Amino acid sequence: MDGVRTAKFMLTAGPVEASDRTLRALSQQVYYHYDPQFQEIFAETTRMLQEVFQTKQDVIIMQGEALLGLEAAAACCFQPGDKVLNLVSGVFGHEYAWYIRMYGAEPIEIRVPYNEVIDPADVEKALKANPDIKFLAVVHSETPSGTLNPVKEICTVAKEYGVITIIDAVSSMGGVDIRPDEWGFDICVVGPQKCLSSTPGLALISVSDEAWEVMRKHDPPVRYSYLSMLDWKEIYLETGRFPYTIFTSEVVALHEALKQILEEGLENVWKRHATAARVCRAGIRGMGLEIWPARDEICTPCVTAIKTPEGIDDAVLREHMYKRYGVLISGGFKDLMGKLFRIGHMGKTADPMYVIVALSALEKSLKDLGYPVKLGSGVAAALEAF
Ligand SMILES: *Cc1c(COP(=O)(O)O)cnc(C)c1O
Repeated sequence: MDGVRTAKFMLTAGPVEASDRTLRALSQQVYYHYDPQFQEIFAETTRMLQEVFQTKQDVIIMQGEALLGLEAAAACCFQPGDKVLNLVSGVFGHEYAWYIRMYGAEPIEIRVPYNEVIDPADVEKALKANPDIKFLAVVHSETPSGTLNPVKEICTVAKEYGVITIIDAVSSMGGVDIRPDEWGFDICVVGPQKCLSSTPGLALISVSDEAWEVMRKHDPPVRYSYLSMLDWKEIYLETGRFPYTIFTSEVVALHEALKQILEEGLENVWKRHATAARVCRAGIRGMGLEIWPARDEICTPCVTAIKTPEGIDDAVLREHMYKRYGVLISGGFKDLMGKLFRIGHMGKTADPMYVIVALSALEKSLKDLGYPVKLGSGVAAALEAF
């Protein structure tokens, strides 16, 4: 590496680009975690997270990327014999069953094709048929498929049945209006490196009083562990001490990223994500390609999944975009590899002009590879939709 980055524009599915201000915050001297200034930054970060999450619940910052938070929820809550309704509309939903089994619980699943979303009526049916279901796990934005599950309706039904809800909002928080308190979220896990436009390495989690109670009653409660959410409640939130050394630089970056979101205003940030997604879909269709999700209403605002066109190897296409034009996008993930590729528009890159850069590189690359596309057709459609 000679220090020159090949990727000039990153429209990836996360991590995504950070703003100049966030990068400047990252370049500060390393903080000692009990430096009073850092303690203030940490407390303020927690407060800002509550604002961005739109919640009065506790919010904790665990160290390790978002998957650690999702596993921690399983480790701290599930016990042998517990039944967990696991909703599977994509790769991340499918994989949650692994944690459910690993921590001794039993998954009961509702599955839909990966270009579809979960129907809340099916959730109600399953809860009615299995009155001993104790937990429900759902992915809000299935980043690998570009879809958005109706978590408001799903969790509202779950709470009517007294079920504890675990929501993977890793890629949706900051990209769309989410109301954990009104919608009945008990544990909501978010990543800083998606719509919040900060660095990977932290799990941001809101926790309801009911969920804390479940964790305290776990036999034995998970404490003094890297997977313990209770440690963050009982050590940090209740005494102000840290359970261990903090990833101070990641927190400083997140602090700056959240400040910018709140300065811009949540509504404006959501609107920017929605516009970027709409412009992206218009551009994709304009150049004759197809969107992966079955319908526009179920598309997530943070990423657009595109069916790999006939006769094109998406890995070759993406490498061409990267090497020739410096535009980095994402491929299919796990089961969806080869079937689709993705243009991320999250955080800083949730901006129609970024999307138009990606669309230009995409149509030019398709043309370079011999695919019949009329240059400018995607960009023109995108500009019309803008
Ligand atoms: C990115 C993502 C994850 C994983 O987050 P990591 O930070 O990589 O652990 C989980 N779920 C969804 C929906 C995601 O988009």
